[in-house]
Amino acid sequence: MSKKLDLTGKVAFVTGGTRGIGWACAQVLATAGASVALCASSDVALAEEKALSLEQQFSVKCLGLQCDVSNASQVKSAYMQIKKQLGGLDILVNNAGIMATSPLAMTTPDVFDATTSINVNGVLLNLQMASKLMARRGGGSVINISSIVGRFGSPGQIAYSGSKAAVIGITQAASKELAAQGIRVNAVAPGFIDTELLQDFPEDKKSAVVETIALQRIGQAEDVANAVLYLASDLSAYVTGQILGVDGGMVI
Ligand code: NDP
Repeated sequence: MSKKLDLTGKVAFVTGGTRGIGWACAQVLATAGASVALCASSDVALAEEKALSLEQQFSVKCLGLQCDVSNASQVKSAYMQIKKQLGGLDILVNNAGIMATSPLAMTTPDVFDATTSINVNGVLLNLQMASKLMARRGGGSVINISSIVGRFGSPGQIAYSGSKAAVIGITQAASKELAAQGIRVNAVAPGFIDTELLQDFPEDKKSAVVETIALQRIGQAEDVANAVLYLASDLSAYVTGQILGVDGGMVI
């Protein structure tokens, strides 16, 4: 492994790290030697079980937490626990998210608020807390998980597309604010990735989407996690404010 990919001694926090893309990120970061904290929105036992399995598999210190990312006091408490038990923070993967599917006419303020409170406020609250801890260490790397729909929009997903576009704006603004403190802020924009988020997507529609993907397959969570690992590591030391598409060439 390139020495620049080695994360030994680093501490990472993956929000929503118990399954899907978040769990894949937690695994690749632990494989690279990082200590990993991960959270579930309510099921602390699941988060602790996942953290323990990382510890046993990769011999790194890990931490499972309960944290609803839309709740400011829970987010603050999570960072206090990370500081106390893992000593600080170097890497944040702002992954937790929900997908609301509703066309424009059906998108009530409640649907919009529920989506943005997790997908946007959650990203912001974590970025605020993480950047304080990273600044104390002289720098760090934040990776926000946006989406291809945040760049190009998706019919029937007004609230979700808007929330993921906001993540891109936050990423670009924060990268400019935090660069002087040695903190890089980038986003990954996944395309169509095989996780529980897409469990209600009809099989025939999945096949139609695959037709639009240049690499002719649905992405796997690990495809996204590998991009996150690059952005977390010193291999990307001169990269900030960027939006990296991981979509198999859905949009070229
Ligand atoms: P999953 O539904 O499999 O995972 C979502 C994760 O987010 C879960 O771990 C869930 O944890 C967590 N989460 C949801 N709400 C909260 C909350 N309020 N507080 C803390 N954690 C929360 O989806 P994916 O793995 O696919 O999605 C991960 C990210 O990737 C999301 O931001 C999503 O928008 C984005 N993405 C996914 C794509 C795809 O095709 N799958 C494409 C583009 C982007 P819990 O169960 O504990 O609530």
